[in-house]
Amino acid sequence: MKKWEENIRKVTPYVPGEQPKRRDVVKLNTNENPYPPSPRVAKALRQISTESMRKYPDPEARMLVEAIAEMETSPRSGSAAERGCLSEDAACGTAAMENLTPEQIFVGVGSDDVLAMIFLTFFNSEKPVLFPDITYSFYDVWADMLRIPYERQPLNEAFEIVGRDYYKENGGVIFPNPNAPTGALLGLDVIEDIIRHNQDVIVVVDEAYIDFGGVSCVGLLEKYDNLIVVKTFSKSRSMAGMRIGYAVAGKELIGYLNDVKYSFNSYTMNQTAILLGTAAARDNEYFEETRRKIIATREKAKLELAKLGFSFQDSQANFLFVTHKSVPAAELFAALKEEGIYVRYFDRPRIDNYLRITIGTDEEMERLYAFLRTYPGIR
Ligand code: PMP
Repeated sequence: MKKWEENIRKVTPYVPGEQPKRRDVVKLNTNENPYPPSPRVAKALRQISTESMRKYPDPEARMLVEAIAEMETSPRSGSAAERGCLSEDAACGTAAMENLTPEQIFVGVGSDDVLAMIFLTFFNSEKPVLFPDITYSFYDVWADMLRIPYERQPLNEAFEIVGRDYYKENGGVIFPNPNAPTGALLGLDVIEDIIRHNQDVIVVVDEAYIDFGGVSCVGLLEKYDNLIVVKTFSKSRSMAGMRIGYAVAGKELIGYLNDVKYSFNSYTMNQTAILLGTAAARDNEYFEETRRKIIATREKAKLELAKLGFSFQDSQANFLFVTHKSVPAAELFAALKEEGIYVRYFDRPRIDNYLRITIGTDEEMERLYAFLRTYPGIR
């Protein structure tokens, strides 16, 4: 080993899902939205001039931050079912904060950027940060890179987060809700219980998939100043390629995040992302329409895949995490890929016999079912 190699920060990077070069692929591997962004985004794009690229963007991305604050403040309408809720609970899916101000929003280049800033800003204890053993596989990568100690809390046999595993002393808590890649949703009562037991550290709830059937815990910010809720435009707003994510928290925590961001790179959000994200945030009607379509396709997928001998948790996300009673997941993954149907396979302990299938359009899902119906050993 050369002497200078001793001083290199060596990391094992996160491996993102494959983005195939072929165009004829049924792409169900990275939880993108199969529908295009709001028509208002297309309209705003046509109005963007190259002149706006000459100058630096607004480092505060104020226009986008204000649109997000407004969006998070407007409660959802329609019946519980129309809001994507399985129960008839009148409050389900309506959760919104009253009086949320732009000072409570932090935006970044996708929620990955926001989460990385959160790890850097808030997880600075000698005590371990807690997260589930089966969860978003970027958490341990950031922790390793930033030399943050962490401890994985095993999901139970049914792949559920167990609230009391998070009662122990720690340097912070983070988990997605719904969890990824399982899709399992935690009730607000369990989330509040975890926060209540962790008031001396920062608790981060990653709500990348919350719009597909869950209730956001943003309302809990009224009670807990150590909570950060992270969301993204990549899934329910069809804008993964634009890279827009955000955190909602108390003014104080957002202030600390901004201090770290400005010590790193003032201009994380480019001008085009600011303008197009603002247009998307203002189109609630289109957002409701597409997320309802995805929820309906997902519910149908649960029936179809169960008929074909798959089992899975009751996902409330835009994907299903499935295992088959007789065909090994690794084999099926390869066969599907050969057929031009891409899904995600994680070769990791406890989940190496599962496939994560993103919910596509009805037509894309039909292609998947048609292939599976004829696959040897499926039925
Ligand atoms: N959190 C979770 C749980 C995710 O699955 C993803 C998507 N890979 C992200 C955050 C990051 O998404 P993005 O950076 O596109 O907002």
